Amino acid sequence: MAHEAPRVVVCGAGGFIGGHLVKGLLRRGVPVIRAIDIKPLEEWHQLADGVENLSLDLRNKESSLIAAEGAKHLYQLAANMGGMGFIENNKALCMLNVLTSTNMLLAAQEAGVERFFYASSACVYNARKQARPDAVALKESDAYPALPEDGYGWEKLFSERMCRHFEEEFGLICRVARYHNVYGSHGTWGGGREKAPAAICRKVIEAKITGAHEINIWGDGQQTRSFMYIDDCVEGTQMIMNSNIAEPINLGSSELVTINQLVDIVEEIAGVRLKRTYDLSAPKGVNGRNSDNSMILDRLGWEPTIRLRDGLEKTYRWIEMEMAEEAAKQESGVLEALVG
Ligand code: NAD
Repeated sequence: MAHEAPRVVVCGAGGFIGGHLVKGLLRRGVPVIRAIDIKPLEEWHQLADGVENLSLDLRNKESSLIAAEGAKHLYQLAANMGGMGFIENNKALCMLNVLTSTNMLLAAQEAGVERFFYASSACVYNARKQARPDAVALKESDAYPALPEDGYGWEKLFSERMCRHFEEEFGLICRVARYHNVYGSHGTWGGGREKAPAAICRKVIEAKITGAHEINIWGDGQQTRSFMYIDDCVEGTQMIMNSNIAEPINLGSSELVTINQLVDIVEEIAGVRLKRTYDLSAPKGVNGRNSDNSMILDRLGWEPTIRLRDGLEKTYRWIEMEMAEEAAKQESGVLEALVG
């Protein structure tokens, strides 16, 4: 008998990574039967054809059962989240994601799901290991003793742990990836939930448009991070889901840059040099964070490889296009108001 591909459900599919994941799975011929997000369909970053796209609040038990029904593989990416500006100011909201994660684990168990993927985060890592910009890259064991990012990171660590015990005690195979800063097209670039790469692209484009050749940077610009392009994230997510890796594993780039270097790259793509000001009171997160990829290299013989310069070029061009479209819409709205 021919081996049938498992029927897949993606939760959080109206978001940045979830939208790309649905498209990535479909490209590989994986039957995605359902895509779920709390947002109305018209607000999803991407919508895929041939998939049951549903707007459901997964904090609600009934909705989580509808979401999981008939699935063999379930990807749980749904979370109320954003960049540092959002998570530092919305700790309770971030912790309430535990309702979604819990419901989806229970619903998956009830629906007879064979594999459950949970999108965790580098925010689970002990803050003391990230106090300096030249911090040593984080390996998986650095999550304990626990001192994660307050709010958002605690929920991720707790839900990781729940996955582990659902597998041990209820036999639900759980795979957990700790994403490190993902960026790319079809993500949030304004409104307060955007992350550093998108925010910097937007600010540089704004500076070019307005001619005010200045950029304000959160923190002193010396903080270090690594950034993973979305295509690597989608690839790694599927590899981890289909692997035998039972413990949480880093999924991130190990190409470390300071925020100042990130700005340098974006300026170079844009062909401008801007005067920099620094907002030392703005949320900036830990001082240094990088992904130690020894485990993923050992277990999968693979790690994210897309260079930051290449991924940023595509991201910059996409945000530039989005901003131009938005400006054109606003202009035609003003014209209509004047004429009408
Ligand atoms: P995103 O905000 O673009 O997507 C998350 C989606 O979940 C949103 O569309 C949101 O509407 C949806 N959602 C929130 N609450 C929901 C609910 N109750 N029911 C149904 N849907 C709900 O974020 P993303 O960047 O695509 O992140 C996806 C996952 O990866 C999240 O779990 C996030 O915590 C994790 N993660 C992301 C990054 C990153 O750099 N983007 C880093 C680490 C971890």
